[in-house]
Amino acid sequence: MRRKLAAGNWKMNGLRASLTELSILAADQDLATCDIVVCPPATLIVWAAEVLGASQIRLGGQDCHAAPSGAHTGDIAAGQLADAGASQVILGHSERRANHAETDEMVHAKALAARQTGLGAIICLGETEAERDHGITLDVIARQLARSVPDGATGANTVVAYEPVWAIGSGRTPTLAQIQEVHARLRADLVARFGEQGGAIRLLYGGSVKPQNAAEIFALPEVDGALVGGASLKASDFGAIIAALCAA
Ligand code: PEP
Repeated sequence: MRRKLAAGNWKMNGLRASLTELSILAADQDLATCDIVVCPPATLIVWAAEVLGASQIRLGGQDCHAAPSGAHTGDIAAGQLADAGASQVILGHSERRANHAETDEMVHAKALAARQTGLGAIICLGETEAERDHGITLDVIARQLARSVPDGATGANTVVAYEPVWAIGSGRTPTLAQIQEVHARLRADLVARFGEQGGAIRLLYGGSVKPQNAAEIFALPEVDGALVGGASLKASDFGAIIAALCAA
């Protein structure tokens, strides 16, 4: 049985004052029956850990370098995220793939670095609008999955997030049938490659998830939760999404 997971990606948003949202969320979610991860900017992780105290909400980074240390100005190592209080890291987000030319191979190397440090990897993939229009969505996501996820992936060290690029931050979402089709393919490929562990890896949907559409998405088979951007910034919105997930 896969435990549901709601992951919030704050992206490059938030100052220390924003952590009040986290305390409100923590106060509301003490009894939540699903897993919750918030990935604030790296500058806030230490402060966020302090605010969260013994809360069940866990923290994640938004990227890490593949190397454990070295001359990589501006980058952050998986071990540094863990040292700051993170237990997870988002890898291969489409904004990293597009803005920083990250390839599947780079995401694969980062996922191995995360694993070596004990961080769970939330590996993102998804098609562009042009790829969907050309009818190659399933080929694209299958290729990204095969190349980005390293051998030895398990339910404990890996989460996969399907995030259609055109749905991120746009207010547009795929149809439920489209989400279901992609998640079914991801699950089949994970089981074919990793056997029982492929069935234990959680599959998140991400892309304009809001309190208004969360319940219908979470009712889909093979949707184990969501990676949420904009709607994770406010405790009230993210809390409503978590409530829908826990009820699903
Ligand atoms: C994201 O950035 O991973 C994301 C899903 O963003 P949004 O929810 O704002 O579309």
